Amino acid sequence: MKKKNKKLDILMILTIIAGVLVLGAAGTLIGLEAGRLHTEVETAKAEREAKKNAAESGVAAVTESGLSDSNQTENVDPEAAAIALHATSDVIRGAAVAAIPNVSEYADAVQNGNLVTPIPRNSLENAGTGQNQTEGNGFIVCIDAGHETNQITDLEPNGPGSENMKQGVTSGTQGNWSGVYEYQVNLDVTLKLRDALAARGYTVVLCREINDVTMSNVQRAQIAADANADIFLRIHCNSSDSSSVDGVLCYAPTSSNPYLSEEVIERSQALSRIMRDAQCEETGQTALDNLYQDDMTGINWAEMPVTIVEMGFMSNYDEDMFLTSEDGQDQIVRGLVNGVDEYFSRYGKMEAAE
Ligand SMILES: [Zn+2]
Repeated sequence: MKKKNKKLDILMILTIIAGVLVLGAAGTLIGLEAGRLHTEVETAKAEREAKKNAAESGVAAVTESGLSDSNQTENVDPEAAAIALHATSDVIRGAAVAAIPNVSEYADAVQNGNLVTPIPRNSLENAGTGQNQTEGNGFIVCIDAGHETNQITDLEPNGPGSENMKQGVTSGTQGNWSGVYEYQVNLDVTLKLRDALAARGYTVVLCREINDVTMSNVQRAQIAADANADIFLRIHCNSSDSSSVDGVLCYAPTSSNPYLSEEVIERSQALSRIMRDAQCEETGQTALDNLYQDDMTGINWAEMPVTIVEMGFMSNYDEDMFLTSEDGQDQIVRGLVNGVDEYFSRYGKMEAAE
């Protein structure tokens, strides 16, 4: 019995030792696991913090560079940079929208046949600066997306004091291949152009933001004048009886236009050359000879340098596809923004005529 008991005692002691060892090992494992989890949580926290900081510095860098200089974001985590870009594009969208509330009201008034409320010039001059992160560059660009859903058959004077009467707004063309209406392409490009110009600090005023308006060419020129615009860009697409004709051209007044000052005429001709060449440089389209005419109502009534940009032919298969594609429109807008930059860097603001 005693021997037996002794053996049992040893067995029990061994069992207890083994148990303690197992528990100890388990405890160590649990401890290690808990430590690992803790470390993971800390690392994730640190990573989030680092991303947040990178995103914030990314926003600052992108905002400062106005989206035009990508060098400043090179060292930023790509994910953070993406977040930053998104945030910045919202800011710029805000700036673009902030620049035009009065014009929207004005367009509504025009649509309701109540064309008596002039746009307060002071509010437009100050629009797009101060209240947002996009620094204004002081230049005002008015963009007219040509045509609208329905044509206006009522006639209006072809120029100030002119007895030559022309249709308020024609219906525009339509893609021979895409079936898309010109007024839609003009609006698509105009909205993209507005955002791109706002991102570079321009104050942008649009004649229309929707297709369903009733706005004659004289009324469009008046919007540009009331906005005190430095240039007036009229965005259009071309069409030809021959499907083989393609390329870009602009309309400008002739040197003897009776409605415009010598300076406005010269600048309009220069603006027309610059815009055509800038678009073709970016898109690879053919630069056609610009057309000089004095029978364009929206040009004759303009009080500032003005051009009609014919972005391409909707009667040509390749250009119809190009004009109606996102990529094509983006290329055109990049070219036109470069053109606006070049015009202002070469000519600046016009001296106010007294
Ligand atoms: Zn047109």
